[in-house]
Amino acid sequence: MSNLINIRTLSLKDLEGFCTKQGVEQYRAQQVYDWLWKKTARSFDQMSNISIKTRDILKQYYTINALEINTTQKSEDGTIKMSFKLFDGHIIEGVLIPSGTRMTACISSQVGCNLACKFCATGLIRYIRNLNFDEIFDQVAIIAETARREYDCPLTHIVYMGMGEPMLNYHNVLQSIDKITAEDSLGMSPQRITVSTVGIAPMIRQLGKDKVRFNLALSLHSAVNEKRNQIIPYNLRNTLEDLIGAVKFFHQQTNTRITIEYVMLKGFNDTMADARALAEFCKNFPVKINLIQYNPVENVPFEDSGQERTEAFKDFLDRKNMVVNIRRSRGKDIDAACGQLANKIINKKT
Ligand code: SAH
Repeated sequence: MSNLINIRTLSLKDLEGFCTKQGVEQYRAQQVYDWLWKKTARSFDQMSNISIKTRDILKQYYTINALEINTTQKSEDGTIKMSFKLFDGHIIEGVLIPSGTRMTACISSQVGCNLACKFCATGLIRYIRNLNFDEIFDQVAIIAETARREYDCPLTHIVYMGMGEPMLNYHNVLQSIDKITAEDSLGMSPQRITVSTVGIAPMIRQLGKDKVRFNLALSLHSAVNEKRNQIIPYNLRNTLEDLIGAVKFFHQQTNTRITIEYVMLKGFNDTMADARALAEFCKNFPVKINLIQYNPVENVPFEDSGQERTEAFKDFLDRKNMVVNIRRSRGKDIDAACGQLANKIINKKT
């Protein structure tokens, strides 16, 4: 491995310091910074207004740990799944979901995942490492370029719902959002960003303390501890009661309404008793509920509840005056839908 420094870990001040030391004009620092964060350059040679000599100096000391597009697949519904190669050879996946002029990037926060949720394809592969904030940023930059090229639309929304658990990579996730929303970078609104978590109570509290301005989604899937334990092993460490406390605190601190994600699993979490438990759970704070169609994962015994049961479940919640939406899946034909990101070939558990 080279001992070059990842240039994207440098602040503008750091770059200015470097320029002074190397006898390069000060204003070049701002130009390089703009290339990295505004123009999302992924190589020094793209920096066309920087002289070749200065680029060579930069290359002597620094590297850009840029993502490379490995594969691209387009679904019949327009969803585009991309796999990206990281600087150390690992592969992650990200998805562009077009819906009219709404362009959503679904991005990964870790290589693999160690939560092992029973219904999720990513849970079946091994955890390798956290993504660095600039690798998370690159997924957004590349997917935004793809939206512009393929659909002539800017990226409008970002969901941290790809591979991995964002709250177990807290620092990099928050730093990536700082960059995505910074005026001297992509300048996107935090209100258009949603971070989804299995529910790591201490980290939800931390989000509250940090008074974040992006949206939070909680992958609940059951409001009954014994059932949630069966599908989400993490629930054993961190029960529904712990989650209620943490989400209440988050709400007090940020005054934002969270989204509850609930995958409909036939005969498992879709009875009226389950709906009642969900309604009870949701009484503790304002929420919006998304009922998500279950997407088949190889060797997993669950089945989707189907339209009729899902609508009956929704009706029950509607009658309790809850905000409920049924979310249909996109990109299923290319394994790009929720819970299907797993890079079938490369990261398989051995
Ligand atoms: N670890 C985070 C981020 C992943 S988000 C989290 O748990 O929230 C991916 C979303 O897709 C989660 O809500 C997850 O529970 C859901 N999901 C996983 N497998 C699925 C499947 N097979 N069908 C539908 N949704 C699934």
